[in-house]
Amino acid sequence: MFTHARKLAWPLFYGMSSVLYAQVDSQTQAAPPTLQFVENRVLVKFKNVGPDTAMPSADALGVLGTVNGTVVRTIGDLGVQVVETTLPVQQAIEKLTQSGSVEYAEPDYIVHTAATIPSDPFFGNLWGLNNIGQFGGTPDADIDAPEAWDVSTDSSETIVGVVDTGVDYTHSDLADNMWTNPHEIAGNGIDDDANGFIDDVYGADFCSGTNCADSIPGRDGNPMDEMTGTYHGTHVGGTIGAKGDNNLGVVGVAWKAKIMALRFLDAGGSGSISDAAAAVNYALNIMAANGYKRMVLNNSWGGGGYSQTLYDAINRAKKKNVLFIAAAGNNYQNNDINLFYPAAYDLDNVIVVGATNFNDAKPGFSNWGCSGVDLSAPGENIYSTKRGNAYQYLSGTSMATPHVAGMSALVWSLHSGEKWQAVKSALMNSADPNTALAGMSVVQGRANLPLAISAGAFDEPTVWNVNPRSAKPGKKIAISGYNFGATPGGVTVNGVPATVVNWGASTIKAKLGVGTPAGMGKVQVIRADANIGEVGACFTVN
Ligand code: CA
Ligand code: CA
Ligand code: CA
Repeated sequence: MFTHARKLAWPLFYGMSSVLYAQVDSQTQAAPPTLQFVENRVLVKFKNVGPDTAMPSADALGVLGTVNGTVVRTIGDLGVQVVETTLPVQQAIEKLTQSGSVEYAEPDYIVHTAATIPSDPFFGNLWGLNNIGQFGGTPDADIDAPEAWDVSTDSSETIVGVVDTGVDYTHSDLADNMWTNPHEIAGNGIDDDANGFIDDVYGADFCSGTNCADSIPGRDGNPMDEMTGTYHGTHVGGTIGAKGDNNLGVVGVAWKAKIMALRFLDAGGSGSISDAAAAVNYALNIMAANGYKRMVLNNSWGGGGYSQTLYDAINRAKKKNVLFIAAAGNNYQNNDINLFYPAAYDLDNVIVVGATNFNDAKPGFSNWGCSGVDLSAPGENIYSTKRGNAYQYLSGTSMATPHVAGMSALVWSLHSGEKWQAVKSALMNSADPNTALAGMSVVQGRANLPLAISAGAFDEPTVWNVNPRSAKPGKKIAISGYNFGATPGGVTVNGVPATVVNWGASTIKAKLGVGTPAGMGKVQVIRADANIGEVGACFTVN
């Protein structure tokens, strides 16, 4: 597959909502005409009614009679009655207030998700973050970024290393969002932190071939993106974390990212495994030196065969609480049959990302695999930063991967006490399933950011793998994942209960029931609290 003996890896590019906060904070108040509220419904708090009082007094019921009101619900903790009335809302509120029996009566305002739209002028090009059909695609075939930004845009707790062709750290839309080495003084020609790299302020350069094309040959502290014409790593960096809401250019998934540039791919976009491993190693050493508790590494590249060196580097990253997000590849292939590295390393801290297009379908180029790809994200015609304060569209699983890396940074920063397992599970639990993506990945869906940051995503059990991938009734399978709980629950395969042989919070062994129907199907883990985790389409009963 490759023509150059030492070039074993290459980058994977291809070719309302009105903000309406109803802050009714005081006394009775009729709704101004511009505010929407639920017709024939008022919220009433009667005088002398404390919290947890389910029903109003007889006097209160009499007052309700004057507005033809019926209590449909009680917000017990507040002592508030939700009242349906046949009168217009404003009239009902006036009558209730005049009765002298209510502390307050107010409209039940309608609020909307205040989807946060940033000021960046090219935001409209970013269909992957917010698809309103602007390019003819399917509205909402996106990761719903504005809905998540409504909750938080702060990803400052998680550094994202871009293992790539470098990053143009001078780009006006990236400069403020670069990680900076706290123990390195810029431009003094000294290796202040004694890590072997002089002036490694934004990351470092591990490119050691003959086509590195930089001013200082060999490994050094300057990770400028030197990939002629394409500037792949700069594009990846922008999708992860171009500065948001700065009235300039584009916006990354993580508005306030901390991007560490780890250059190992050369001016032609090729590199060697040894340089990739050195880049990972550098990032881990920076973590150790600075006490960083978590990190995300974006790997929009692949190729070559199994390398024990790189396996060991990723495994070491796993032990240091690092997520390794890897592109599924652009070979039009099933990764379950044709292994594609580094995506194919059998290490659970690797999250493999396939691409979707603006219709939530898989673009032809994207590799797939119901076991070998974890989830999908937008990866076709993605607009992002280019070296020299420029912008451009690129397509590839290279572009899908940084969507998930940026998501990881935001999710992890909001749940900074969690380990990589929980963040991976949250990302996988929250994907939007889609029939067009059936069989394309473990979750058979496209990533969804607001769901990933929700507390619910962290509570779900998640099935990552079933081993072996096919078995006969009566045979044993091993299910691995996260959050199964310490208390044994149940397992079903194709709807038939399996016998649990061994139950652990992340591994279960179970024996298929004798009557389990043959064919591809679903393995479900039913936690003791009845919460279900499942994996479908990649397990066959034979
Ligand atoms: Ca240094
Ligand atoms: Ca250099
Ligand atoms: Ca911007």
